[in-house]
Amino acid sequence: MYERGAHEVGDGLWAYLQPDGGWGWSNAGLITDGDASLLVDTLFDLALTQQMLDELRAVSLAAASIGTVVNTHANGDHCYGNQLVAGAEIVASTASAREMDEVPPAMLAGLMQATDGLGEAGAYLRDIFGPFTFDGIEHVPPTTTFDGELDLKVGDRVVRLCELGPAHTRGDVVAHVPDADVLFTGDLVFHGGHPIVWAGPVAHWIEACDRMLAFGASTVVPGHGPLGDRACIEDQRGYLEWLVAEGTPRLEAGVAPLDAARDMAGGPYDGWGERERLVVTPPALPRDLGLEPPSDVRPPFGRIGDLR
Ligand SMILES: [Zn+2]
Repeated sequence: MYERGAHEVGDGLWAYLQPDGGWGWSNAGLITDGDASLLVDTLFDLALTQQMLDELRAVSLAAASIGTVVNTHANGDHCYGNQLVAGAEIVASTASAREMDEVPPAMLAGLMQATDGLGEAGAYLRDIFGPFTFDGIEHVPPTTTFDGELDLKVGDRVVRLCELGPAHTRGDVVAHVPDADVLFTGDLVFHGGHPIVWAGPVAHWIEACDRMLAFGASTVVPGHGPLGDRACIEDQRGYLEWLVAEGTPRLEAGVAPLDAARDMAGGPYDGWGERERLVVTPPALPRDLGLEPPSDVRPPFGRIGDLR
């Protein structure tokens, strides 16, 4: 277990953690120098984001006015709080900005209002997203987009953004603070939980792990889960290699993704959280293999609760 709230991870540098790191319980970060500040990610709803901003302001005067926000990727648990920092420059990859336009907060709010008609999938959505409030969240898109790499300055401090997607999503970005040896990975690392492959290819996510390891950071702030070091990146890489090694022969033999997921769920990662994500993740593999991908992930998603 680990503690919720702001954790100092370097001089003028904080991670904001939300146990237990499951669906929607994401981490964020604050990078400061003097009275300049940069926030890595907002949270899933306005109340949680406001609570985080209040707590960060209690530990750092620089958080009184956030100058820059970096959204590591387009999932709502990393950007739906943007309207509370709407005066800031908001930075994301071009691919992420596009994906944010496609899945705005109103879409999730609408989905949650329609769960009664979605059967098992609806019950599952109410279960995992019930603690969050999506009504009334405005879509606040990035004001600055980039491809590849971008160096930002926070006061005199350099923050290096590096686009390593598509992997978890289409435009995943990590933020490296070289002077403090800290790497904010977004959801390229789920520490202690099954990752979910929305975009893939998985092989590219494995490459992203190698690139994250090459930063040589001594402190790793994952997108979900407790603080870590390079071992949590190595673990994520190991999981993805296992996924390919175990999932590929099953799918090539014609095993349905849901059956493959059931089969693999009892494997070496059984103790990690959210193992039901295996239902969504194996369907990403056929794309990698050049096989016909499932045309619709909703039926397997409807069965996702089976594996909880
Ligand atoms: Zn997330």
